[in-house]
Amino acid sequence: MRNAVPQEIEITKINESKISQVDFENLAFGKVFTDHMFICDYVNGEWQTPKIVPYGPLTLDPSARVFHYGQAVFEGMKAYKDDQGDTFLFRPDENFKRINKSAERLAMPEFPEEYFFDGLNTLLKLDDQWIKSGFGNSLYIRPFVIATQPSVSASEADEYRFMIICSPAQSYYSGDVSVLVAEKFSRSASGGFGYAKAAGNYAGQFYPTKLAKEQGYQQIIWTDSNTHEYVEEAGTMNVFFRINDTLLTAPVSDRILDGITRKSLIALAEKQGYNVEVRPIKVSEVVDAFNNGSLKEIFGAGTAAVVSPVKAFGYKGEHYELEKQENSYASYFKKSLMDIQYNKAEDSFGWRTKV
Ligand SMILES: *Cc1c(COP(=O)(O)O)cnc(C)c1O
Repeated sequence: MRNAVPQEIEITKINESKISQVDFENLAFGKVFTDHMFICDYVNGEWQTPKIVPYGPLTLDPSARVFHYGQAVFEGMKAYKDDQGDTFLFRPDENFKRINKSAERLAMPEFPEEYFFDGLNTLLKLDDQWIKSGFGNSLYIRPFVIATQPSVSASEADEYRFMIICSPAQSYYSGDVSVLVAEKFSRSASGGFGYAKAAGNYAGQFYPTKLAKEQGYQQIIWTDSNTHEYVEEAGTMNVFFRINDTLLTAPVSDRILDGITRKSLIALAEKQGYNVEVRPIKVSEVVDAFNNGSLKEIFGAGTAAVVSPVKAFGYKGEHYELEKQENSYASYFKKSLMDIQYNKAEDSFGWRTKV
């Protein structure tokens, strides 16, 4: 349906692939990129003819507004290859809808659906050999939009560039993380743009995270900006708690990013009869559950790591170490989701899309 190669993409292929220089057994996340990239410019109120060109640096005017006012949004998605060599995307419509939702909040123009999917599918077919089969191997896909219009005048731009770049990724086990519950800093505020996948949300997180690292924590559990009493997200992931056998996560809001992994985990858990509660969760409730032994697990959920278990958290000067669980929900849900992504399990939700 979406597999037809559109006539209108201008394709310039690379002369010689650089794939033979890549050590696929030792990939650091997000450092190596495939042979091609997708580019589409917005000028005179219109998206222009999309192009696929060899991956390489851009030339932009130093006054391009993205450098000054941070008008930039992005997505993170993956392509997975099964043992038969077929490639799949996981709920790509959700990424498409979300980049436009993010764009709207940053006063950027909507990107057309056909361009997004035709561009992505064409790019993935061209760089197909970069997608390795094998459980855990994937191609990380980064669509993004930046304001390119030259001028430092402080208003939204009227020229933009939409791009897609791709980076081969391996599943790697980075170890369970320790997280610090935020008592002062916030990643987003009510009325702000925490729900948008915007570059600025990340820029503002680095400093508090750096301070947390100095205290021995790898990530921050963000709390609500008004009271710091409710948990919201873990680093750049949504966060889940298992209290006894109930799975808890906060409802999305204008401060919380509506993660695709999050909503997929909720749907999977509900379908399999787990008790799931989507409601505001107080930090004090988590601490109480730890103290009475009912807090079994905490984990982050996001496309890059799927599920990232938390082994300890810090709050108000106290350090809480979680006990390692046999048959953890974290590993169970990670495997269930990956089985669907890699075409190893039935996809009763219709989440997989063949490229
Ligand atoms: C991208 C992101 C997530 C995870 O979203 P997925 O769609 O599951 O990858 C969660 N929180 C923040 C802040 C994010 O930027």
